[in-house]
Amino acid sequence: MNRLRKLRKLIAEKELDSLLISQPENLHYLSGFTGSGWLLISGRNASLALDFLYLEQAKEESSDFEIIQIKQELQDWLPGLVLDLGWHKLGFEANLISYDGYRKLGEAIRAKQINLELVPTTGIVEQLRSAKEPEELILITKAAELADAVLEQAKAIIGPGMTEKEVAWEIEKNLRQKGSEGVPFEIIVASGPNSALPHARPTDKTICPGEPVVIDMGARINGYCSDLTRTLFLGRANETFQEIYNIVLQAQTAAIEGTKSEMLASQADQLARSVIQQAGYGDAFGHGLGHGVGLAVHESPRLGLSSSDSLVDGMVFTIEPGIYLAGQGGVRIEDMVVLENGKARVLTKATK
Ligand code: ZN
Ligand code: ZN
Repeated sequence: MNRLRKLRKLIAEKELDSLLISQPENLHYLSGFTGSGWLLISGRNASLALDFLYLEQAKEESSDFEIIQIKQELQDWLPGLVLDLGWHKLGFEANLISYDGYRKLGEAIRAKQINLELVPTTGIVEQLRSAKEPEELILITKAAELADAVLEQAKAIIGPGMTEKEVAWEIEKNLRQKGSEGVPFEIIVASGPNSALPHARPTDKTICPGEPVVIDMGARINGYCSDLTRTLFLGRANETFQEIYNIVLQAQTAAIEGTKSEMLASQADQLARSVIQQAGYGDAFGHGLGHGVGLAVHESPRLGLSSSDSLVDGMVFTIEPGIYLAGQGGVRIEDMVVLENGKARVLTKATK
């Protein structure tokens, strides 16, 4: 209920009567409900509007919330409900309502001649979610430990002649066997030239000695995710990749040691980027330094050159610089950190 109290303060600051929420992780965060539906929060109300399919689940997961059964589309039930509750300014998640949904809702409000303003909002609940509470950090730490254990296991079984798909499947099986709720994102196992693609999919390519193998994977525990990348070599890496690996590791270490609370996320990005630029590979680090991790594997804050986010204690995010050489291969090293007492503490412990 602490979360609702904070949210109500933000709703009041934005001079709204109420906020309509349907983003799944936001629903989970605020109400405990893990299905799909609509959450309506005002100074007084906290209601879940749900289809029949989810009624029983919501009674178990969100017993403190009023549960309203809905039968049709948003425009069919929302205007009447808002009229009963006397709201005049309803915020909605601008990235969750389609243009078509917005148009139909507007028409229904006009047809009923209701005095209601729909106000698009972005990132209100996401902002609350970005700094983690101690209970959340416990689950994230468990998810990080599970990813570490499975990655170490993968290192022990991976050998020349195995395909990327076979390795990915072993990792997925081990994650599930050890208690992960499925996989929070498709596992990446990318070897040789494929490792130059930051978002490669596992293929039928066999893994050869000496080439880089990027493994990017994570676990999920009670909804909370982890995200971990290691770059391995079977046998010895050639000189180019030894050099690149060391640059990426230095860049990552500089970012982990230099990232502080109250810094801009763009400054944290620059800590790693300047190491890679000075080594002459600036153009080969074509993505941001990292992203928040929690109920979603990619959430606020966003760490990149163009980010306007600021870093504060309690935030959990990845630090994942990389260098990608098209046609040859790539190296990425990713760890999760939490900002505590002004500094970054590393949560993922798999060896590098
Ligand atoms: Zn990752
Ligand atoms: Zn990541």
